[in-house]
Amino acid sequence: MPRRAARDTTVVVLGAGINGAALARELVLSGVGVVLVDAGDLACGATAWSTRLVHGGLRYLEYGEVGLVRESLAERDRLVRLAPHLVAPLEFYLPMRTRAGGLAAAAARLVGCEALAKRWRPAAGRGSIAVGIGLTLYDALASGAGWPRHRAVRPGGAGLPTVDARAFPYAAVYADAQMLFPERFTVELAVDARRSAAAQGTPFTLLTHASLAREPDGSLGISNALDSLGVRPAAVINATGAWVDRTRAELVPGDTRTLIGGTKGSHLLLDSRPLREALGARGVYAEADDGRPVFVLPFGPRLVLVGTTDLPFHGDPATARADDREIAYLLAAVARLFPHVPPGRSSLVQHYCGVRPLPAADSAMPASVTRRHMLVRHAEAPEPTWSIVGGKLTTCRSLAEQAAREVLATLGLPVAGSSRERPLPGSLAPEARGACVAEAAAALVAAGVDAARAAIAAAHIVALFGCRGPEACRAAAPDVPPLVAGTDLPTAVVGFCVREEWAATLDDLVERRLMLLFAMPLSRPTLAALATELARLGRLPAERVAAEVERVANVLHDRYGKQVT
Ligand SMILES: Cc1cc2nc3c(=O)[nH]c(=O)nc-3n(C[C@H](O)[C@H](O)[C@H](O)COP(=O)(O)OP(=O)(O)OC[C@H]3O[C@@H](n4cnc5c(N)ncnc54)[C@H](O)[C@@H]3O)c2cc1C
Repeated sequence: MPRRAARDTTVVVLGAGINGAALARELVLSGVGVVLVDAGDLACGATAWSTRLVHGGLRYLEYGEVGLVRESLAERDRLVRLAPHLVAPLEFYLPMRTRAGGLAAAAARLVGCEALAKRWRPAAGRGSIAVGIGLTLYDALASGAGWPRHRAVRPGGAGLPTVDARAFPYAAVYADAQMLFPERFTVELAVDARRSAAAQGTPFTLLTHASLAREPDGSLGISNALDSLGVRPAAVINATGAWVDRTRAELVPGDTRTLIGGTKGSHLLLDSRPLREALGARGVYAEADDGRPVFVLPFGPRLVLVGTTDLPFHGDPATARADDREIAYLLAAVARLFPHVPPGRSSLVQHYCGVRPLPAADSAMPASVTRRHMLVRHAEAPEPTWSIVGGKLTTCRSLAEQAAREVLATLGLPVAGSSRERPLPGSLAPEARGACVAEAAAALVAAGVDAARAAIAAAHIVALFGCRGPEACRAAAPDVPPLVAGTDLPTAVVGFCVREEWAATLDDLVERRLMLLFAMPLSRPTLAALATELARLGRLPAERVAAEVERVANVLHDRYGKQVT
């Protein structure tokens, strides 16, 4: 492989999850050259294994995290405005068993007495008074216009989730937001970084599936199957999430601090029509029997997403899996809320599990560990080097802004640009959606798709790619079927993801570009059609197509319990 000089490169960001990608974009916006590196694919860590909510974090108020909640609520508002195709408001129904429960425990927690709060934890969960106080404060901290204030509601009311009203006679409704596909959000952050770099003449390189090594001359050697760089960075940011300590040990062996005390959280995807209908258009935010928050969320028109657990985890984050006890715990929590439509194991179509990159703490209560992010400097490193600890999807942009400010100040550079009011590349207002779908459909009809299927495929693509949808549908090769077998996806979109979005493998396409991971059903012929297209594009040797399909089917089964039919 020829070794490409990257003399203009200034900052190396390790980890292309939502935080690393947001930081790379923020630095590029200030005219700084960036090499963004991931050992796997974009967003292949906690970003993809989260509850997918963009929220202020109502629960954090009990821990006195008012600043974090205010910041998160401001970011919630901003993300809905700047990425409306990927982040949409969602109302939550909060069922409660009592009126007065939880006041003493909340007061103890607020003054930092976690042990007392634990002892006083109300067996029946927080009551409507404690929750009402929290929601009133939540409303007061929200800065954006157009968010409805919370309201107490009568269980069983029209349009509300049909949670057991006898067991939960009190309820409130409030609003937050859902980012259905943080994977796609992260990809768009990287696309925007590249776009902004091109506009300014600033170098930006993203290497996925890459490895990193310190060379004898002190430079960093970064390579993947397609590229190889030698970089002398002005600064290095370790944004590898739950892998931060592992990366730090390689990068700065002299610094032996433990920064991350990760906990694993599992989610279930349920395919139960009665449960989906019982949920309706709102999410349910309730307490499990042990007081942990449980979300039951609409996930598209058919599925229900349930999460999550919170268990200390010390292994390689890539090996975390939802285990039988967690699955039983989450199913039981849903059954308590919806006893008339209890989900059985048979409705479980897949699951996923991720490790939260939480700051290391002594607390025996993982839920009480701060969700605040921090930037930790490693004085022993040969170049200015930091690790990012913590963070949420919701605060990825503000984290990036704060981190970029510190890095730029250290490098003696000004903050010359900001993402504050910068839409993501696919940003598409709901009122412009119809015209965009029509344009994408016209491109598909021109490629030979019949009008009815073209309309369905175009709507699907615009939901994933926003205003970039029509572009993703164009340029189909004349000699390939216009739609991927067994799907409503244009074949042209595969080339678009390879050319424009760094998709390198079949798993990248399935899990983090086309979101087929959540397709019901996902078939081997579909995987084979995608792999064949990758081979046609020169990204996979033709003789490896069948083996690649088998490999990815096994990965989906092992990691998500998903059956490929
Ligand atoms: C169960 C769970 C539920 C959550 N729910 C929510 C929620 O609803 N809302 C919310 O706002 N937040 C939520 N979060 C938090 C949020 O998902 C994470 O804080 C966030 O995704 C972290 O992003 P990241 O980029 O820091 O890390 P990651 O997304 O984990 O990215 C780290 C990246 O580093 C890469 N990497 C690892 N080692 C190396 C190396 N040596 N070199 C290069 N790259 C490397 C990995 O491949 C990975 O892509 C949740 C988290 C979990 C686990």
